[in-house]
Amino acid sequence: MTTPRIAIIGGGPAGLMCARILQGHGIQPTVYDADAAVDSRDPGGTLDLHADAGQIALEDAGLMDAFRALARVEGQAKTRRDQHGTVLAAFTPDEGDEAAPEIDRGQLRTMLYEHLQPGTVHWGHKLLQATPAENGTHRLEFANGASTEVDLVIGADGAWSPIRRLLTDAVPEYLGVCFLDARFDDVDTKHPEIAAIVGDGHMFSTDGAGRAVIVQRNSNGVVRGYVAFRAELDWYVTAGVDITDRAAVRAYLLREFSEWAPIMRPLITDNDSDYIQRSFWALPAPLTWNHTPGVTLIGDAAHLMAPFGGHGTNLALLDGAELAHAIKKENTLDDAIARYETTMFARSAEIAVGSNTALTKFFATTSPDAPHLPPDQAQEHKNYEARAAEYRRRQTENA
Ligand SMILES: Cc1cc2nc3c(=O)[nH]c(=O)nc-3n(C[C@H](O)[C@H](O)[C@H](O)COP(=O)(O)OP(=O)(O)OC[C@H]3O[C@@H](n4cnc5c(N)ncnc54)[C@H](O)[C@@H]3O)c2cc1C
Repeated sequence: MTTPRIAIIGGGPAGLMCARILQGHGIQPTVYDADAAVDSRDPGGTLDLHADAGQIALEDAGLMDAFRALARVEGQAKTRRDQHGTVLAAFTPDEGDEAAPEIDRGQLRTMLYEHLQPGTVHWGHKLLQATPAENGTHRLEFANGASTEVDLVIGADGAWSPIRRLLTDAVPEYLGVCFLDARFDDVDTKHPEIAAIVGDGHMFSTDGAGRAVIVQRNSNGVVRGYVAFRAELDWYVTAGVDITDRAAVRAYLLREFSEWAPIMRPLITDNDSDYIQRSFWALPAPLTWNHTPGVTLIGDAAHLMAPFGGHGTNLALLDGAELAHAIKKENTLDDAIARYETTMFARSAEIAVGSNTALTKFFATTSPDAPHLPPDQAQEHKNYEARAAEYRRRQTENA
């Protein structure tokens, strides 16, 4: 293959990982992102990188040491409580268990960005339009007036991907659950009761009636989490609540969660941040499209799914890595896209269906015994490790 002109739209985990591995293979892509800088917006909370997905990509990118320097192995701890605060299940990772360590999303993004060659990412480039041109090339036009033509455009542009329109009419559907993102600062001194409930990792709590509180310890004494309930997208309009008014949202939540015990209420009302609505959407699953020369999708753009199971970023990283390897390995960009998409379609279909179903069940209002989360975490961690070993075995076989 002569040196192809490759544009990656989106500098999230998928796009940055793809760029990093391409550069490792001696191929120079350009990443375009709408954000003004790597840290120009709140990236959200913590996430776990699984041995059989995110960590495979990090290893291939030579970034496991950089990851370990930031990761929190103790953050793998999980507790499930009911609305009364009673502990229903608990998991503490064994010494040496590194199957799914936690990292703050902002730290992950910055770490990936800092390991790219300078000038790789063009910030402040919001893609407006990608138009197919001759021989599989595409013309890209950006909101700042810039434009370019490329041999391959990789849509790593997330949930509302404009690149996706080149491949499929599929659009995300709202999953019917409102998540209010809430942050607690300096928890060990300022919110000791919250620190005690959350512990070192995650705490899931549901009342079996469609309401939940899910909180996670982040780095630097921060706890972030979600107060979640089944609701229409514009629930606050119907309820007459100004969502930017912290006190008004609190009063609404206290009514909505009135059956929850006093020990659990600080998780709903004592946040130091405003409540930020983060609604969950998912693409139809399984989702595939006809092979189209010169364009493909990685990460959420290809398979946006409910966050249950924590697969989104893991798949985004693995997609980015595998597409980059395929571009290096195959003789043509077309063959590379075909090779990557065949594997990605099969993997993401199964996981997306499972994640979307898990969210629906977790927020079920019809069953008095909504499915228990976390599942058997010790077994889950063994599964991550076993699948990672199998992945490496197949990779060596196909090398
Ligand atoms: C509340 C919440 C909690 C979550 N929790 C977890 C979790 O615990 N574990 C987990 O693995 N996943 C989790 N996810 C999912 C995870 O955030 C995504 O799967 C992951 O970020 C996907 O990475 P990506 O690179 O594909 O897309 P993104 O991270 O969305 O990055 C897309 C990038 O594209 C850029 N972009 C978008 N449009 C344009 C445009 N027109 N032009 C230029 N640039 C553009 C954006 O600025 C952005 O930087 C969660 C998601 C949410 C909303």
